[in-house]
Amino acid sequence: MSEALGDDLSAETIVAALTTRWLGRPTHFRRVTISTSDELKHLAALGANEGTLVIADEQLCGRGRMERRWLAPARSSLLFSLLFRPTFLSPDRAQFVTMACALAILDAVREVTGLQPGLKWPNDLQLHGRKLAGILTELEVSTEGKLDWIVLGVGLNVNVDFRELPELADTAVSLSSVAKHPVSRLALLVSLLFHLERRYEMLRTGHSPTCEWAEHLLSLGQEVTVKSPEGTFSGVAEAVDELGALLLRLPDGRCMCILAGDVTLR
Ligand code: ATP
Repeated sequence: MSEALGDDLSAETIVAALTTRWLGRPTHFRRVTISTSDELKHLAALGANEGTLVIADEQLCGRGRMERRWLAPARSSLLFSLLFRPTFLSPDRAQFVTMACALAILDAVREVTGLQPGLKWPNDLQLHGRKLAGILTELEVSTEGKLDWIVLGVGLNVNVDFRELPELADTAVSLSSVAKHPVSRLALLVSLLFHLERRYEMLRTGHSPTCEWAEHLLSLGQEVTVKSPEGTFSGVAEAVDELGALLLRLPDGRCMCILAGDVTLR
């Protein structure tokens, strides 16, 4: 599908189209890689610049949270990772970078397709009740307790034909299937990086993305079940706190603060 669109990605076409000052510079493009995040974490350890992008047409071992697999046929998706060195953020605010990325994906999808996905706490994007994209955040804190690097890994279903991945056909969605036409991966990437750079610069000036991010969360006010490392809890997803943790109102009236977990609507 992407070939019909003239949507061949390469480092040259990406860099020529970028409208950013530093995000995506440099860009490392791979036809195939094991995992863009694994490759970028290695580059980060070697001292790579903030803004470095690793993007691939195909990942042999794309990862989600807790080592879950991210699946995508070659050339069907945006599969990339970005390196940030937010020395201005304390480690407990690392989630701000993930929030800025989620909002930038919404900006780009709206700009390029006119579609309006929502956010599923903590790190997914949904469209028509199905999973459109996932963001995986990995980070390293230095011995002085400062954020050394954050690597954001993004998988965004652009032109995926889920008949090729029947195991995901009921839970996942691709932009092309809702837009009813192929969507340019390059146009989406360029827009996404533009908005993410803009939003990251806002973080640098002390702006918190939490309110805007929370406005797009789909499950607030609803009865949910949350599986977290501390156990499984049901209640009303009442709100999120300043750092993005979910505040769950339990049936006995107590409020629980959950940092990470899997949410399902009841
Ligand atoms: P959940 O989807 O239950 O919220 P999660 O947020 O932990 O889980 P991720 O870590 O973002 O999920 O991604 C891994 C999961 O996403 C896999 O277990 C699989 O169910 C699903 N998945 C894998 N590839 C895709 C894809 N291309 N589109 C949508 N979902 C996918």
